[in-house]
Amino acid sequence: MKNIRITIFKKLFFPKTVLIDSPGLITSKTNKRFSSKEKHKRIIFDFEDVIADLYNDTVRAFGHKKTEELWYKVGKDVGTAYMSFSGKLNIPAFLIPTTLNIIFDILKTSGASGFDEIKYNAKTRNLILSGSDNGYCRKTQSSSMAAGLVSGILSYLLKQNIEAEGKCKDCPKQCLIIAKPKIKPTYVSNTKKLRTILEYNKVNPAPVKKQLTNSNSFSDLLKFKKIHISDRGKVSYLGNIIIPTSPEFIEIISYNYDSFSCKEILGDSVKNATFRLASKVFLQKEKVKKFCELQSLFSALGFGHILMRKAGKFTYLDLLGQPFNKYGYYFLSNYLEGFLEFIYEKNFQLKKIRNKGQQIRTFVYFECGSVNI
Ligand SMILES: [Zn+2]
Repeated sequence: MKNIRITIFKKLFFPKTVLIDSPGLITSKTNKRFSSKEKHKRIIFDFEDVIADLYNDTVRAFGHKKTEELWYKVGKDVGTAYMSFSGKLNIPAFLIPTTLNIIFDILKTSGASGFDEIKYNAKTRNLILSGSDNGYCRKTQSSSMAAGLVSGILSYLLKQNIEAEGKCKDCPKQCLIIAKPKIKPTYVSNTKKLRTILEYNKVNPAPVKKQLTNSNSFSDLLKFKKIHISDRGKVSYLGNIIIPTSPEFIEIISYNYDSFSCKEILGDSVKNATFRLASKVFLQKEKVKKFCELQSLFSALGFGHILMRKAGKFTYLDLLGQPFNKYGYYFLSNYLEGFLEFIYEKNFQLKKIRNKGQQIRTFVYFECGSVNI
């Protein structure tokens, strides 16, 4: 039995668990045991508060019902995109329970402590996940995104649309997600649209080689005690929880907000959230030094490198080596803008996002008016 398992898993591809980190770039490497061909998957660490605030701001604007519907779709699309990184899967029925255990164990390392207990009934295809203090939902009291995520994963794995429901009672103390074929169909993700692009490794290449100032790796900031990992595995940056996720996650949120015609809410909410965060995590007083803190933060959390350059009477800000995203950079540019607004008191505007030459790689750049560097 054990040998069959290893042989079958060798043909499959499951992301991780080995982390490589260097300034500007964090990747998880496929475990050789699970994959015949090694792939690198890019990761960013994102502040939990930004996502939770966005959820709560949306509830204020649209009410619970519409917000839950929107975030269920986000979760399901994220789950589908996550699974599609492994390509086409043909897992025999007897291995489904083991596979689910592996997947949810991996997700637990990303703050999903709501998936602590996994109960799967192979006959009825019912899946029950329970735990507590689940990432995001412990701050929004809604597990619609987590339910969508579970539905996306299970549906992809079983090749059958299976919906899920968030049944958190007294969240964050008790989180509960139930997925079963009996739940009325609500949303089917577009697998084709969410599929990982073939050039994934080409457009997410090796770290930028040249020596950049104020660039740090994730492990540098662990060493400097700016990043902390708790006994329960929760990671924080100066006391603010950060959650490892794929860069696609944040822009899948954008595209779902766009399809609900409420992209502006996302832009404003994200910008305000990172502005507030900046006031908590930037400890230096001078603008120039605060900017150095931003460079260090972005590089350590895997967003690439922020560089300033003068051209004529303007100052430009480039984001180099940021993770490629086929969904665009709307979330990311607002995320960055909030930090910049805090540092430069709104004296700049996002000019454009452009592709560089023949490559698919993209630069995000801001025109910062008369900002001095
Ligand atoms: Zn919960």
